[in-house]
Amino acid sequence: MNCTGLDSRDLLGDNDVYPIRGQIIRVRLDIKEMHLDQQHETLTYIVPRANDMVLGGVAQDGNWNLEPTSKDRDFILQKCSNIIPELEGAEIIEDLVGLRPGRTEVRLEKEHIQDRPLVHNYGHGDSGVTLSWGCADEVVELVNGG
Ligand SMILES: Cc1cc2nc3c(=O)[nH]c(=O)nc-3n(C[C@H](O)[C@H](O)[C@H](O)COP(=O)(O)OP(=O)(O)OC[C@H]3O[C@@H](n4cnc5c(N)ncnc54)[C@H](O)[C@@H]3O)c2cc1C
Repeated sequence: MNCTGLDSRDLLGDNDVYPIRGQIIRVRLDIKEMHLDQQHETLTYIVPRANDMVLGGVAQDGNWNLEPTSKDRDFILQKCSNIIPELEGAEIIEDLVGLRPGRTEVRLEKEHIQDRPLVHNYGHGDSGVTLSWGCADEVVELVNGG
């Protein structure tokens, strides 16, 4: 099985794999409102949790930078404050960055290397959690000889 995500780029020399950089902010503010706005160029989300709120986000194709930037923080805060104005003065707990494992399309297939089967399952971009159950079913079929 190969489920190495973004690392498939180097492991297999697969140049169709690329990072889609995301950044979020964790803030402390007790407002129990969830928002998801997909009407603009980038997705805006506000997710209240037990002890914090998560604000996002950005989606930057080809950007490998794992460090949070103040530019992205300002951009996210601005977008979210337009929805909930109190967020502008909220206490910031931390900024976090993650790289989504982008690919031109998901690679889910079996190949044979020196007569040994290898099932690939990577490149899910920003939908890996959503797709995981269906992909896992397909992987099982391939492993069982499908
Ligand atoms: C910012 C961000 C936003 C996201 N938003 C969404 C969303 O809105 N909806 C959604 O459904 N999903 C979302 N996701 C999840 C995303 O789609 C992927 O599912 C998630 O990033 C995990 O991908 P993965 O399992 O392919 O790779 P990874 O979690 O990176 O797993 C790869 C694993 O392979 C291992 N590995 C690498 N190389 C080797 C090697 N040579 N040998 C052995 N092991 C190796 C690594 O250690 C790692 O454990 C988001 C992810 C991020 C980062």
